[in-house]
Amino acid sequence: MPIDPVCGMEVSEDTGLKVEYSGKVYYFCSPGCKAEFEANPEKYIRMEGMKDHHHSHGGHGHSHNRHHMGGCHH
Ligand SMILES: [Zn+2]
Repeated sequence: MPIDPVCGMEVSEDTGLKVEYSGKVYYFCSPGCKAEFEANPEKYIRMEGMKDHHHSHGGHGHSHNRHHMGGCHH
């Protein structure tokens, strides 16, 4: 089963949603993914090669001090 390079899911070859790019054929789960790939193929091709991209920028950037007081009205 080929892998949709955009969303990473397995797709069937008979959907007809395929794009040939630099000598390789890529298959897609939906026209949306196909369009996404066509808009930016380099991005997705590069992703395929480097499966583990661990960007560890020291410390995590999101703060947990969100005090929502009375945020939900029913
Ligand atoms: Zn997809």
